[in-house]
Amino acid sequence: MTLMPAERIRNVKKSATRLLFDRAYPGSINLGLGEPDFPTPEIVRRAAISFIEEGRIGYTTNAGLPELRQRIAAYHNEGSGSRFTPDSVCITNGAEEALFVVIMALAGPGDDILLPNPAYIAYPAIAEIAGTTATYYHMPAERGFSFDRESFSQGVTERTKLVVLVSPSNPTSRVIAREDLQFIAECLEGSEIYVVADEIYRELYIDARPSSISDFYDKAIIISGLSKMMSMTGWRLGWAIGHEEVIRHVTLMHQYASTCASAVSQRAGIAAFTDEGRKATAEMREELRRRRDVMARAIDRELKLPYVSGEGAFYIMLDVSRFGASDDVAMRLLEERVITVPGSAFGSEADGYLRLSFSIDASLIEEGIRRIAKGILRTT
Ligand code: PLP
Repeated sequence: MTLMPAERIRNVKKSATRLLFDRAYPGSINLGLGEPDFPTPEIVRRAAISFIEEGRIGYTTNAGLPELRQRIAAYHNEGSGSRFTPDSVCITNGAEEALFVVIMALAGPGDDILLPNPAYIAYPAIAEIAGTTATYYHMPAERGFSFDRESFSQGVTERTKLVVLVSPSNPTSRVIAREDLQFIAECLEGSEIYVVADEIYRELYIDARPSSISDFYDKAIIISGLSKMMSMTGWRLGWAIGHEEVIRHVTLMHQYASTCASAVSQRAGIAAFTDEGRKATAEMREELRRRRDVMARAIDRELKLPYVSGEGAFYIMLDVSRFGASDDVAMRLLEERVITVPGSAFGSEADGYLRLSFSIDASLIEEGIRRIAKGILRTT
């Protein structure tokens, strides 16, 4: 019997990260992780427990609890007025669902979606499922994966319906500078093009909090959530925030995808916006900075290879181009019991690089880099 899926998912590939994880030996050091290893802050866990103990855990409204939407709107208004209201917010099951329902609600067959190369793997897949055509602007490796104005403006055409920005970026950790965001807004001004701005890593910056495109462009829909900033990946709590009218369409799509985000996670999420919750994020940020330095020093000492270390998130892009294709290198390194993610998983621009995550304990980072050095020296 041949069981064929629908046309729309026939060409969608399984994530390269998953394939590697499936082949890894037990006891491997995981520098491939896309999540912080910190416990979720206590105040958030306590809020969930006391809500569960109250006993009644029903549906919430489709867009989410008004109190949480209020907190989210206030968070995005910080430092930039009072543009967002609770009706500007649709709370979803993680940022992943937010980007899925936003793209599905706003673009379809005949539309182009302009994506960064390299980009977080979900984007090309969702563009395909939505029946759109993915086109790319390049964040060139030879310029340290920084935003390239020329490539961006060449990428915008009359077929472009939606533009995706990911800042800080997964996989490169690079941030799009304020002046470049202004440039993007100027490029798109007067058009009907929506910007989907993925800001899931915004609170995990190294020196300065990244600017948001929503300060310059009003057809921007921001995707964010608590997964990274509160170490809450398993709670599945994210959101889309933007113009109220657009969010109504997004909420309709979300209603038929999942009704509402988990009520327990939403109640817990309210506690994340307290002073104590924000303090927990600041502490994680501090620790991640320290781990970034540990990884950079270990690379300088053990590997002496070029790398790109961005202004946010928790990834370093290691240049392994002289050792072959990045997926072969990553595969060979599994033998040394160290997991990395090949840059090729994120697009042609990052081939020749490995994405290394410094979201794990400093001693494991040091040992992981030693294993990479051993693996690379052994195979050359
Ligand atoms: N956007 C980016 C850039 C990510 O890296 C991730 C997760 O790795 C997501 C969105 C999804 O986040 P969530 O766990 O909230 O669904």
